[in-house]
Amino acid sequence: MRKRGNLYVFTGPSGTGKGTILSEVLGKDKNLYLSVSATTRTPREGERDGVHYYFLTQERFEERIAAGAFLEYAQYVGNYYGTLEGPVNDQLEAGNDVVLEIEVQGAMQIHEKRPDAVMIFVAPPSMEELERRLKGRGTESEDKIRHRMETAEKEMTYADRFDYIIVNDDLACAIDDLMAILRAERCRNKPLNFK
Ligand code: 5GP
Repeated sequence: MRKRGNLYVFTGPSGTGKGTILSEVLGKDKNLYLSVSATTRTPREGERDGVHYYFLTQERFEERIAAGAFLEYAQYVGNYYGTLEGPVNDQLEAGNDVVLEIEVQGAMQIHEKRPDAVMIFVAPPSMEELERRLKGRGTESEDKIRHRMETAEKEMTYADRFDYIIVNDDLACAIDDLMAILRAERCRNKPLNFK
């Protein structure tokens, strides 16, 4: 007896710590798989093709769009990012849970296409705290931080379309919140897919 896996969408403004929460939970939960996205941005140091992203040229990415290969895709800060549908479906069919860590435009596309996807939004405790964290990274100019804050404000307006909101005030609590959501969703009463 095997159930089809659950599809989770994990979204939130940059600087909310969503990557940290997710990597901690992926380390603890062996039934949860992170979908590897495709992107046209250049790899950062240490990033490997096929592990962190599939790094594609713009031409190749657009070919994949035309072929209908993407479950969702979006342009974000001048680059394409997208989720390839095939590998996600294969994992779900095999009964595994899959999580997409994507920005809000892509999340809204999934919400339309896959109404059964569990939508999770990570929010900062406040916009002041978000700004403090972005500045604390010390890696970006004032201009870039202002741009990220503007993007974050827009992204926050979508929060009410999500099933769950995790406020990342305390990292350990945010990790527990995500684990609790996964656990509850696995117990949700839905038709079993007998194999
Ligand atoms: P980064 O360039 O920092 O790795 O990612 C930038 C943004 O793109 C992040 O908000 C990340 O969640 C988002 N992102 C990564 N992969 C995808 C994807 O496949 N689709 C969409 N829509 N956004 C993505």
